Amino acid sequence: MHGEMMEEQLLISDILEHAAAVHGQAEIVSRYSHRDIHRYGYADALERTKKLANALSRLGVIEGQCVGTLAWNDHRHFELYYAISGIGAITHTINPRQSSEQISYIINHASDTFIFLDPDFIPLLESIEHQIKGVIGFVVLANRFEMPPTKLPNVWCYEELLQGESETYHWPRFPDSTAASLCYTSGTTGDPKGVLYSHRSTLSHARAVAGGEGWMLDSSSSVLPVVPMFHACAWGIPYSAAMLGSKLVLPGGALDGKSLFELIDSEAVNSMCGVPTVWQGLLRHLDSIGRKLTNVEKVVVGGSAAPLSMIQEFDEKHDVFVMHGWGMTELSPVGAVNCLTPEMKLMPRNERHQLQMKQGKPLFGIKMKIVDDNGMEQPHDGRSFGRLMVKGPWVAKSYFKCTDHSAFSCDGWFDTGDISTIDSSGYMQIVDRAKDVIKSGGEWISSIEIENAALGCDGVTEACVIAATHDKWGERPLLLITVNKLRSEKTVQQHLANVLPKIWLPDAIIIVETLPHNATGKLLKQELRKTYQNYLISDEIA
Ligand code: AMP
Repeated sequence: MHGEMMEEQLLISDILEHAAAVHGQAEIVSRYSHRDIHRYGYADALERTKKLANALSRLGVIEGQCVGTLAWNDHRHFELYYAISGIGAITHTINPRQSSEQISYIINHASDTFIFLDPDFIPLLESIEHQIKGVIGFVVLANRFEMPPTKLPNVWCYEELLQGESETYHWPRFPDSTAASLCYTSGTTGDPKGVLYSHRSTLSHARAVAGGEGWMLDSSSSVLPVVPMFHACAWGIPYSAAMLGSKLVLPGGALDGKSLFELIDSEAVNSMCGVPTVWQGLLRHLDSIGRKLTNVEKVVVGGSAAPLSMIQEFDEKHDVFVMHGWGMTELSPVGAVNCLTPEMKLMPRNERHQLQMKQGKPLFGIKMKIVDDNGMEQPHDGRSFGRLMVKGPWVAKSYFKCTDHSAFSCDGWFDTGDISTIDSSGYMQIVDRAKDVIKSGGEWISSIEIENAALGCDGVTEACVIAATHDKWGERPLLLITVNKLRSEKTVQQHLANVLPKIWLPDAIIIVETLPHNATGKLLKQELRKTYQNYLISDEIA
């Protein structure tokens, strides 16, 4: 027997209609053109989004077509999120940090009809324009007077496009399983893979991350997503903030510590989200000017492991709780969050910091298990580790137009490619990417834990551990670091000896000028492996 409740579909356009009706004056504040501040309310955003929806229809965009965006976090990108998906088309967010070959590949793979781009990205698109001939036209996100000269064909000015359009638009209703947005993974091997989110997966995810076991947003929040809107929908924040009427503070393309602090300070930001590298920049800036964070209550750290030193510094110097989170593009992207629980509030600080290093408990809706190489489930005892498998309503079930289904098991689990532990309370901790874990004489060594320990050494700005081939042990850890103060490898070695088991101590430490990153800021270990693979092969060096 079916329940006798309405079959009302959950659509992205409903979020903005709700925000405009109930939180119409709550602000969206954006920094654009790197300096200027734009502010308006959700009601104004809805008006402009409807004009954009009319403009898209006039351009001939129809349901199911992909429209690319190549833009920073600002109000225009926000409007595109809602208008494109709202009319039933697909918002394809393009990551400008990917290589130009990858960008032309994904534009062609998605069959993007139009691309809406910030002026900053004109040179990038000009350089690949001859490879993306399927694109009908380019819309530059600017006023007429800001329009730079360009060799791109069929160019529109965004503000002119909106001018004269009607503010009346009736959002179409369709099944909420309809595709809403598309994001390609920034994988380090092979072609990028597309993850095609639906309206339902987007709304389910946005509700879960906004709630009490997630970002804990409400209408008193002022939330700053530093995480880009071109990667995994900025962790769902443009949707969650609108659902709950939170003030949304969008940083544009200025992501350095100084620019971020100005915005945090002037907009009384109390909640912010981003990857560890961004927060390193902010913390160093605060140090250099001797300022403290006053309004910020929590900072969500994900994308890479939050180092202990960062958790401690935010807490001890700024009284800010680091809410560690884990996710992947394939999970919309958030799967687990480590929020402040009553048990944590009672813990001594040091103990709590250790617990905060875990990536957190799965959000309701996400199921997790860990399995060994034979697919046997491992116990949730906090010690046994295995490949992390997940399933849930906002987890991908296949890649867009892709025949490689190897990550999707026939019984409905997605293989994350991460190795983790899960303890008896449900806290999940990432040990490593399966391909980065070091196998030394039969023991598994976590590169993440060594990196975290190295970052705790004063003066180390970035750390990367790779598995180097070793003739006796098979593999041994090799540590590469960047530093901001003159110091010897010996100091780092001594520091590590105090905090790591002997067998985990890197066989060599190398100070380098910079470390390579992929398009989402993750360390490109494969590239380093190519260079340093044989560094430890001889016993004399080891
Ligand atoms: P992406 O799809 O580019 O967002 O990358 C997802 C991958 O980032 C995951 O599979 C993890 O390997 C890594 N990752 C995300 N969050 C964390 C975290 N908090 N700690 C460690 N690794 C993380």
